[in-house]
Amino acid sequence: MTYKAPVRDYGFLIKDVFNTDQYHNVPGFADADSDTVMAILEEAAKFTEEVVAPINITGDKEGCTLNPETHEVTAPKGYKEAYKALTEAGWTALSSDPQYGGQGLPHFVNTAFSEMLSGASSAFGMYPGLTEGAISALTAGGTDEQKALYLPKLISGEWSGTMNLTEPHCGTDLGLLRTKAVKAEDGSYRITGQKIWISAGEHDFTSNICHLVLARLEGAPAGVKGISLFLVPKFLPDADGNPGERNSLQCAGLEHKMGIHGNSTCVMVYEDAKGFLLGQENEGLKIMFYMMNAARYGVGLQGLAIGHAAYEAAAAFAKDRLQGRALTGPKSPDKPADSILVHPDVRRMLLESRALIEGGRAFLVWGALQADFQHHAEDEKAREKASDYMGLLTPVLKAYLTEKGFKITSDAMQVHGGSGFTEHFPASQYMRDVRITLIYEGTNGVQALDLVGRKLPSKGGRALQTFFAEIDAYIAAEEADSKTPQYIAALKTTKTKLMDGTMWLMQNGMGNPDNAAAGSLDYLCLFGLTCMSYMWAMMAKAAQTAIDNGSDDPFYATKLKVGRVFLERILPEADAHLAKMKGGAEALMSLEDELF
Ligand SMILES: Cc1cc2nc3c(=O)[nH]c(=O)nc-3n(C[C@H](O)[C@H](O)[C@H](O)COP(=O)(O)OP(=O)(O)OC[C@H]3O[C@@H](n4cnc5c(N)ncnc54)[C@H](O)[C@@H]3O)c2cc1C
Repeated sequence: MTYKAPVRDYGFLIKDVFNTDQYHNVPGFADADSDTVMAILEEAAKFTEEVVAPINITGDKEGCTLNPETHEVTAPKGYKEAYKALTEAGWTALSSDPQYGGQGLPHFVNTAFSEMLSGASSAFGMYPGLTEGAISALTAGGTDEQKALYLPKLISGEWSGTMNLTEPHCGTDLGLLRTKAVKAEDGSYRITGQKIWISAGEHDFTSNICHLVLARLEGAPAGVKGISLFLVPKFLPDADGNPGERNSLQCAGLEHKMGIHGNSTCVMVYEDAKGFLLGQENEGLKIMFYMMNAARYGVGLQGLAIGHAAYEAAAAFAKDRLQGRALTGPKSPDKPADSILVHPDVRRMLLESRALIEGGRAFLVWGALQADFQHHAEDEKAREKASDYMGLLTPVLKAYLTEKGFKITSDAMQVHGGSGFTEHFPASQYMRDVRITLIYEGTNGVQALDLVGRKLPSKGGRALQTFFAEIDAYIAAEEADSKTPQYIAALKTTKTKLMDGTMWLMQNGMGNPDNAAAGSLDYLCLFGLTCMSYMWAMMAKAAQTAIDNGSDDPFYATKLKVGRVFLERILPEADAHLAKMKGGAEALMSLEDELF
């Protein structure tokens, strides 16, 4: 089984659905006309299929190794060479700031590339993924000097980045963190403490690793208000900005884990390590959130990317595997049995997966466009709107797409039957690799609490109201003479359910916050379904328009067939989510703790 990058689907989204050429006045978009982008994505597909995909299975089997003497980590065979090829071809610099050596292309181009990279090998894709997050934090919180020194090397991929939040006693609740920072006479800081589960914390393919570490200054306020952020490089840059003196930090251990074996998950120990403050003292979390938000979007993307790769493997398997006969009579009478593709239950798994993947991919591209508008839209109002959307929808993108990525991957294993449970087929690796996406970067339960507790009420509910108004305007514009009215009707109904759920939260969550918390993941899924419904309405319209304009490309008719599966087999889940959240917290809270 080889990885097949979804280039055609990106062509559809970029040209037919979102028509990104219409934004040519937005900075960055002028150099990204759709033909140029498609040429880039053809190359991206070649790179990920030919260079990255081959190291996915071998990386899983071999894993990373730690030299207990030197504390250096060696990534699996082939990773170093693939990383070299990745950076030499400039893939790490696609959407970064040209002032620091980036190519300045819009984020949706990088989204398409990142999906292909993660789909080809999610463990490998995490190395540049973490660096991307570090770039966001440095861009937001670094001084001009820090940016000039670090950004060009991170953007080119010569150096890499990490994110150090978690400690043994401190996961979701960052207020508990204990890593200590002491100010030194030269204005830098000395960092002491232990961080665990640090992805890409140590490896053998960059000449320096820049750790972004959350720590607490002596006398800082308790809880999250007393957290500062430090840049702690493995090698301290010398006067010329090259890796100099070795800093006093090391990888003390590697985690043995369920999946993503090719990515090093490190215990990092800092002993009086020299660090540099990013932003202001005690305001570290504010800057770290830039990295965390970038990473949350990236994890949603990772869930979907693995789901897509697993779907492709399952579809290929289903075509080959001969078992049983079609209930309506043999489809391949010359063979001992029909392929399992004749069975409605197998088709259910494959097509529901496909409806989720294609809707989710559109959601990611739409989200990436918001990230571009947030920084570059010409008028202030448009920037504000996009920024509100990013805040509101990041938890939805992260949690909904990883929940569904996991379901798709599980169904891909089911399509394989017993073969899926063996290591001869790739389904089991996808299953092991995707599971972490529901956990790290804030568990999905915590994302749902963030949506309900922080994002909805933020700025008096402005983001949600703007989002509802956008959907209402879309429905009003399309309703009268839509060629695909069933999608508009579905969007209208789903949005009404989401409004109903929102009202219920307002009426029942304020008095008893357990009600809001108990229903939060269902509410998030209802939100995800509304977004997917919006995406499918736009995709169906684009596909139908192409057909009406005389296109005989079977891609468009296929898109509508998959869209129908979304309407008939995925969207009904909205009712269940709404009913579950309206049940409130009582059923969950009434059992006494000692009876668990
Ligand atoms: C492979 C891997 C890679 C990782 N990479 C990194 C990395 O690069 N950098 C980094 O800093 N960390 C990393 N992590 C850590 C990861 O982000 C945490 O595991 C995650 O945030 C959850 O924290 P926890 O494991 O301590 O779970 P806990 O916080 O102990 O949570 C346990 C359960 O309780 C729930 N829960 C906890 N608090 C609440 C609450 N207030 N309300 C409702 N439910 C709650 C959670 O949802 C979860 O279901 C990684 C972890 C793994 C396994």
